[in-house]
Amino acid sequence: MDVPFLSLKEVNARHADELKAAAARVIDSGWYILGEELAAFEREFAAWCGVRHAIGVGNGLDALALLLRGYLELGRLAEGDEVILPGNTFIASFLAVTGNRLKAVPVEPDPGTFNLDPAAVAAAIGPRTRAVMAVHLYGQLADMAALRALAGQRGLLLIEDAAQAHGAAWDGRRAGAFGDAAGFSFFPAKNLGALGDAGAVTTDDDALAHCIRALRNYGSQSKYAHPLRGTNSRLDELQAALLRVKLRYLDEDVRLRRQVAQRYLHGIDHPGITLPRVVREEAHAWHLFVVRSRQRDALQRHLQAHGIQTQVHYPLPPHRQPAYADLHETHLPVTERLHEEVLSLPMSPTLSDVAVEQVVAACRRFGGRP
Ligand SMILES: *Cc1c(COP(=O)(O)O)cnc(C)c1O
Repeated sequence: MDVPFLSLKEVNARHADELKAAAARVIDSGWYILGEELAAFEREFAAWCGVRHAIGVGNGLDALALLLRGYLELGRLAEGDEVILPGNTFIASFLAVTGNRLKAVPVEPDPGTFNLDPAAVAAAIGPRTRAVMAVHLYGQLADMAALRALAGQRGLLLIEDAAQAHGAAWDGRRAGAFGDAAGFSFFPAKNLGALGDAGAVTTDDDALAHCIRALRNYGSQSKYAHPLRGTNSRLDELQAALLRVKLRYLDEDVRLRRQVAQRYLHGIDHPGITLPRVVREEAHAWHLFVVRSRQRDALQRHLQAHGIQTQVHYPLPPHRQPAYADLHETHLPVTERLHEEVLSLPMSPTLSDVAVEQVVAACRRFGGRP
């Protein structure tokens, strides 16, 4: 039996009837942008995260970019300010920063958790540093208590890239509720996935929320009045209606992801495969299950030969991408090594026990050594 990395068809087939009913409701309503479905989804998602505001936008990159843009408009950031973020992240984290003419300052992560190391952040703070963007990579919360304390001492904004972390929690508090503001993605493959592009900003800050609501809609709060030079980035009614269905199953899906992860953690036992370090079960929402191996490419080929599809998140860190030639001199050996060693195993709430066992058995049979 082949084991796919992730079957979105299976994920959404579980709720096909409800999704089709929601789509039909929107089609029949005659109202497709900025309507009741979005307002309801924003209320429901904000409540689920435990924050005052959720603002639906076009995608996860726009969520991060617009929240930074909001801080620029409010005068809490200025062009050229520095934002510290982990070197090992998806390029969207960087694009949100540099797209606002802010400076991305990447630092090395903790290689065990893949997340920001508060000591590395503290060491990188300079006179122009104004914000820290924590990425809850692969679905595990960064050390938000330490980062919050540091941000408080140094007067920095704390921003969460929560695009992979829907459902990660600490003492019951969820991702999206730790920073001054957070950006979520509802790209179809994320823990909460739309059937197209979508994203949201979460925050308790009324002024920021008000500003982002205008920015996403041509800088307008009321029709044809434009106090700001905004953009067009709205979460449409169809996606909002579909997301409302899927939000009802998100807790259960995170539980299923944790179950798969526990089976991998207990089953995979190989000196050449390093398992991810889990700080606390609650803190990880398992968007991805990422192992490390010095023979990553051989491991990937071995698993492929056993019918198991894997992926690499990500082959090249942002500061090594051609798009960031200005950062090529940045020395981040831990980040670079991680990108050579990481491999994402199949992970999905629909992954069967048999499939999980097949992955575990194939890992155990890997010939590679430390
Ligand atoms: C997916 C993702 C984004 C961007 O979200 P999109 O909806 O694809 O624009 C940003 N940051 C991280 C860490 C992501 O995984």
